[in-house]
Amino acid sequence: MPDRDLLMIPGPIEFEPDVLRAMADKTASHVSPEFVEIFGRALDRMRQVWLAPDGQPFVVAGSGTLAMEMAAANLVQPGDRALVINTGYFSDRMAAILVRHGAVVTQVPAPIGTAPAPDEIAHALASDSYKVLVVTHVETSTGVRAPVEPLVRLARQHGALSIVDGVCSTAAEVFRQADWDADVFLTASQKAIGVPPGLALLVASPRAMETWRARRTPVASVYLDFAEWLPIMEAYMARKPAYFATPPVNLIYALDVSLGQILAEGMEARFARHARIGRAFRAAWQALDLSLVPLEESLAANTLSAIYYPSGADATLLAGIKQEGVIVAGGLHPEIRTRYFRVGHMGAITPNDVLATVGAVERALLGAGSSTPPGTALAAAQAVLSERE
Ligand SMILES: *Cc1c(COP(=O)(O)O)cnc(C)c1O
Repeated sequence: MPDRDLLMIPGPIEFEPDVLRAMADKTASHVSPEFVEIFGRALDRMRQVWLAPDGQPFVVAGSGTLAMEMAAANLVQPGDRALVINTGYFSDRMAAILVRHGAVVTQVPAPIGTAPAPDEIAHALASDSYKVLVVTHVETSTGVRAPVEPLVRLARQHGALSIVDGVCSTAAEVFRQADWDADVFLTASQKAIGVPPGLALLVASPRAMETWRARRTPVASVYLDFAEWLPIMEAYMARKPAYFATPPVNLIYALDVSLGQILAEGMEARFARHARIGRAFRAAWQALDLSLVPLEESLAANTLSAIYYPSGADATLLAGIKQEGVIVAGGLHPEIRTRYFRVGHMGAITPNDVLATVGAVERALLGAGSSTPPGTALAAAQAVLSERE
């Protein structure tokens, strides 16, 4: 079935042909020399993409939620205090996971479309003793990017570990794990990493690993226990086979290919490309007079846009955009779910994809009765995309 619709949701994203082809390669034994080399190289590449040369990478079959639970299960013991910076749906999920693993959770909520200011977090950290601070880098339910660098530095100053949910940001938004001294940066394959769904990915700092080693209580999950996975990851990094649970061989082929492409682009170039594409989309939405869920430009993520429907429009607009050949996503935040939609723009996205998407939204709005002249939003996006460095 020929399908040229563009998938512009906040994950899964459009994948590169070479990544998809790796999924169809002949599956090797997970202990064969060929696979050992590929898995080992993928783990080395994760350290480079995470900008964490001394970090410990983990790759486990599962989704981003599993990576979240892996961080919580290993770093939190029953009774530990956790400070959760709550920016929406995925922060709620992280709080629930922490509670399930016995943490005593304090949340710092933020009104929809905002993130708590670092001052507020400094105050919270000073008023109690926390084992971990948890923050969602890009909250996919609101399109808000939290000011992660000052927050992880504050955690460090107050002796707390920092866990950053990077599922909608890793390999797209600026994140320097070693420079910022962040402890866990976790993600899933299907977002900006650019690999079909199925991998939970996490890099832990040496300090996080020490904290895990110092546990007095066993991790409450065999599948998630670093004790099971660390020897496996260490073996593959030393180019030796090892087995705990069968790795998803073809997804790891695809991961290796995608991480190779990401590093060939270069992390700084990649961060800059996402920043420009994010700005191009925001210029287009502004030209269409659409309001964004993030209340300030400085809080707007470069990996997705969360856009309120114009007055008179609702979720039927999504079908109109689909008719024009682009698939976007509905709302996710429970309090505003029916009032907005989301456009993913991360990973292998090109300027042509930006224009195709903006064009489709513009035509769908015209079809729904908009009086903005055709091409207004396209011109605004083009202006940003064609800026000289
Ligand atoms: C998508 C997402 C998740 C959940 O990932 P799954 O792979 O769906 O489990 C968690 N956090 C954020 C920020 C996300 O964008």
